[in-house]
Amino acid sequence: MEHSNFIRTIIEEDLNTGKHDHIVTRFPPEPNGFLHLGHARSIIMNYTLAKDFGGTFHLRFDDTNPVKEDATFIEAIQKDIEWLGCSWDALYFASDYFEIMVEKAILLIQKGKAYVDDQPAEVIKAQRGDLKTPGQNSPFRERSVEENLTLFQAMRDGKYSDGEKVLRAKVDMASPNMNMRDPVIYRIQHAHHHRTKDAWCIYPMYDFAHPLEDAIEGITHSLCTLEFEDHRPIYDWVVRECEMESVPRQIEFGKLKIANEISGKRFINTLVADGVVDDYADPRLVTLSGLRKKGVPVAAIHRFIHSLGLPKSEGETSLQMLEEEIRSELASSPRIHLVKDPLLVTITNYPGEGEMLTHAADQDETLMRDIPFSSQIYIEKDDFVVEKPNKKWKRLALGIEVRLMHAYFIQAESVVTDEAGDIVEIKATYDVQTKSGTDFNARKPNGTIHFVDAKQGVPVTYTEYEPLLIENADRSQPVDAILNPESMKTYSAMVEPAALTLPGPYFQAIRSSYVKRDDAHAFHRVVALRSSFKK
Ligand code: ATP
Ligand code: MG
Repeated sequence: MEHSNFIRTIIEEDLNTGKHDHIVTRFPPEPNGFLHLGHARSIIMNYTLAKDFGGTFHLRFDDTNPVKEDATFIEAIQKDIEWLGCSWDALYFASDYFEIMVEKAILLIQKGKAYVDDQPAEVIKAQRGDLKTPGQNSPFRERSVEENLTLFQAMRDGKYSDGEKVLRAKVDMASPNMNMRDPVIYRIQHAHHHRTKDAWCIYPMYDFAHPLEDAIEGITHSLCTLEFEDHRPIYDWVVRECEMESVPRQIEFGKLKIANEISGKRFINTLVADGVVDDYADPRLVTLSGLRKKGVPVAAIHRFIHSLGLPKSEGETSLQMLEEEIRSELASSPRIHLVKDPLLVTITNYPGEGEMLTHAADQDETLMRDIPFSSQIYIEKDDFVVEKPNKKWKRLALGIEVRLMHAYFIQAESVVTDEAGDIVEIKATYDVQTKSGTDFNARKPNGTIHFVDAKQGVPVTYTEYEPLLIENADRSQPVDAILNPESMKTYSAMVEPAALTLPGPYFQAIRSSYVKRDDAHAFHRVVALRSSFKK
């Protein structure tokens, strides 16, 4: 499938002009959290661009920040990307390049392009100036190459404590681009790294490490999000001054932001701490693990991402668009009768034990099965009111006749209530002439509802997920104030027996939702059959 976007155009040009004959892209997550739907844009686009042009796609863990990172994230991230079907051609870790990075830092020092600064972080920050004021040179800026080499070696050897010294690139303290004002490229951090263990006590900063990682791997097109646009000059500076053989090109695109959905690591941590969700894989979150648990088909995610292309802007996207793709992906799932919140109906004039009603499901012979019917059935509580409220009510009410899908017309005659006054049973009558499949047309019923036979139906649970936040939630409010109290509701339900034996796991629960069968006695909603979108 061809999806044009500006990066694709750049790549086509680079191949046509012979700048590259093989393209290499990468997805470079920092293993400090879980992936969400936003990341899927980067993963799928990098993967697709590489594959469409016969190129190579790398997965590289940008593990240069030992304090925030953890091996559990490495596994979780790989699992998510595998699930998306974006298999990487090679797996790399930035930490594998620590030795080369130090060599490159030494090269910069030798060229007079880097120096060790003894000043504390606050002073360095204060000297950087701002957009209107040029920065001031550090008093250590003119240190000799020899002294810098000795000090940098001492930093590496662990002679100093955290923050005591840094290595800075010597670029331009008066640059209008703040990122060019002698950025810190190495810091001291006596921390245990999940892969290199205790081998290092200096770690490279993003602006130095990232371009080197890309260049080392021969990445041709380095895609990143817009907030790095201002970092492109330092990216190019590092590649050039470090004399990297391969010259990657950084290209920025807009982040994918989902309206009214939670993906921020901090916010999710709060929700986990407050017990609102159990973990990152909660089906109400737009984390990739949450979407997977909810049963969102991967193909729907791909279509959603491609339909949005690669905009240069960061507008918010509605989750409704993903839901549309899920619906079209699940449209051919076998239909089942699932009655949520069941209400017993006794058909007082139905003779005998019951029968099997022939039903050819979905024109697919393998899905053919018969539907049991007898004098006791269940319908949804919401499909009945005592008194028909208005003309729009196309369901059951006392004295009103409806068609039971695939069966007969029934008419509600009376109700049985419990001590609390709640309706626990409907007494109804049926008309044998109205059997489905006969061309009975003497009168029209007041709508069609579905049912499950009481004896042969199977009790299950049925869970519906709704957004975690109330509509237009103000994120600055305390979490309690903006949570949707009904974001997860589990109902008792009845399904026809075939719902347990038909090939699954996806079904179309007639009149309500696309559902997923989790196990024989538990179903949940993936998406409603129709959008609830209000214009
Ligand atoms: P952090 O705040 O920790 O940097 P992050 O979500 O940016 O979090 P990274 O591991 O840095 O996490 O992201 C990996 C890659 O995913 C980066 O290349 C980044 O540009 C891209 N990415 C992150 N968020 C989005 C998003 N919302 N839409 C598209 N791409 C994204
Ligand atoms: Mg990031």
